Amino acid sequence: MRWSQFYLFTTREVPSDAEVVSHRLMVRSGMIKKVASGVYSMLPLGWRSVRKLEAIVRRELEEAGAIELSMPTIQPAELWLESGRWQAYGKELLRVEDRHGREFCYAPTAEEVITDMVRHDVRSYKQLPFNLFQIQTKFRDEIRPRFGLMRGREFLMKDAYSFHAEGASLDATYEAMRAAYERIFAACGLEFAVVEADTGNIGGSDSHEFMVLARTGESEIVSADDGYAANTEKAVIGALAAPAPGAPQAMETVATPDCASIPDVATFLGVEPQQLLKTLVYTSETEELVAVAIRGDRDVNEIKLQNLLDVQHLSLADADVVARETGAPIGFIGPVGLRGARLLVDHSAKDLAHFVCGANEADAHLVGVNWGRDVELGETVDVLLADEGDPSPRSGAPMRKTRGIETGHIFKLGTKYSEALGCRFLDRNGKEQPMIMGCYGLGIGRTIAAAIEQNHDDDGIVWPTPLAPFELLLVALNPQDDEVVRIANDLYARFKSAGVDVLFDDRRERPGVKFKDADLIGVPVRLVVGKKGLGDGKLELSLRADREKHLIDVDAALERTMTALRA
Ligand code: ATP
Ligand code: MG
Repeated sequence: MRWSQFYLFTTREVPSDAEVVSHRLMVRSGMIKKVASGVYSMLPLGWRSVRKLEAIVRRELEEAGAIELSMPTIQPAELWLESGRWQAYGKELLRVEDRHGREFCYAPTAEEVITDMVRHDVRSYKQLPFNLFQIQTKFRDEIRPRFGLMRGREFLMKDAYSFHAEGASLDATYEAMRAAYERIFAACGLEFAVVEADTGNIGGSDSHEFMVLARTGESEIVSADDGYAANTEKAVIGALAAPAPGAPQAMETVATPDCASIPDVATFLGVEPQQLLKTLVYTSETEELVAVAIRGDRDVNEIKLQNLLDVQHLSLADADVVARETGAPIGFIGPVGLRGARLLVDHSAKDLAHFVCGANEADAHLVGVNWGRDVELGETVDVLLADEGDPSPRSGAPMRKTRGIETGHIFKLGTKYSEALGCRFLDRNGKEQPMIMGCYGLGIGRTIAAAIEQNHDDDGIVWPTPLAPFELLLVALNPQDDEVVRIANDLYARFKSAGVDVLFDDRRERPGVKFKDADLIGVPVRLVVGKKGLGDGKLELSLRADREKHLIDVDAALERTMTALRA
């Protein structure tokens, strides 16, 4: 491609909403253009990276036995009413009405549509299993679209759905897809982690996320040397060492005026925060109040709690609600004599002895409290938020926290959608059964953005070759010079016929502009034809990754460049 004939305009202007580097660099390098909040055009340069990623995805999914199809982006409301998600999906679902007043939605995902298709086409266990995928535009009316392609409203996703007669068959496909995803991210040249994940509102049992590691990632991951890795939303924590018990004593009420926070109470009473019991009161759409008791130095993982309670909208209860229902102000709630709320005790708090907790009255705490002796332990749960250094549930090895960008997510759905939509088959005994399903998502645009998040420097993108829009940038540094033009044109023709994906910067621009643009768009290998070098019969070959310049003979240019491209 000749740059002078390409649609590629770099810019120094950084949009004011571009908070992360991939967003800034994609705009500045002319890969994407914003059309509306969370809605982007993929410009020709960006589209080339998308097409490369799609090719890798197709190759590896087909290798895993998946079959490509394409489903519409507009879906009828009836199917979503059948699955129950017309209501449950909430405001992320963009709803539209046609001229006849019929309701539709713009596809955020396609479980309903594909399950509807399969329930009409497939009757017998003999037709199972199969795994279908598409690479198709999705729309989710995200509450906070941001970070460019990372969290758009309209975005490209590869989604796959598998259908099975037996659980073992789902397990096999799930493993094949997991391996395919690992091959995809490795083939993209990305550093990634596979973690145990929460299943969110898609539903189902087993689930893994694929995280491209990057400091700016929205997701927090914990991992240990024993191989355990999980999203902190879901992470299980091994047994915590019990804190030293307080001095043995009978339970007693003490005045703690104005001490409504853990640090205040700890300082006032001269104890460590981990000898305190923190009690938080939550509410949800069910309006039941739930008091969660957790060790004073630790935090509640609200996603775990939400899943445990099986509710959609969890939040801390307002002060007036807490006061009205329990008779005590926030900050002074505790398990002893608690009323108006269901008590759950996190496992971090069950080994506390002679501990301090709220007395369920203003400006008072209880000291010397013991489970069993002074209050029933009751329902113990795991709603602990993982922290740096916590023991892994596998071996107790300390866990580290890192950040990542969720680029892929795979789920064992089970029969959630097949039961709701009546997608059944006849088993070997002629008995009707709901099909067992899996689903597998991969964000195309988000993966491109994540690749940039992971691979850039102050001057621009440093593409991993597999996702680079071009493999080679050939620069004619002085396009007014006949000799430069002749040699550059000749090389361009030869690279093209050798099948190299080459961008030829033949623009009439100053060398400084060309070098700046070259760094910005980040093509992995650069070959510069300049008047000065040609005087000595030399060209300049460099890699974007280290920018070390190698002077090479004109005659050896093709061969040396090909070697650099293959490295
Ligand atoms: P998130 O938690 O980031 O909102 P999700 O759990 O809603 O993601 P899935 O429903 O599992 O995502 O979608 C599959 C994949 O689609 C994700 O792994 C991600 O790569 C991509 N994806 C999801 N939402 C967006 C979005 N708003 N913009 C770009 N890509 C997205
Ligand atoms: Mg989401």
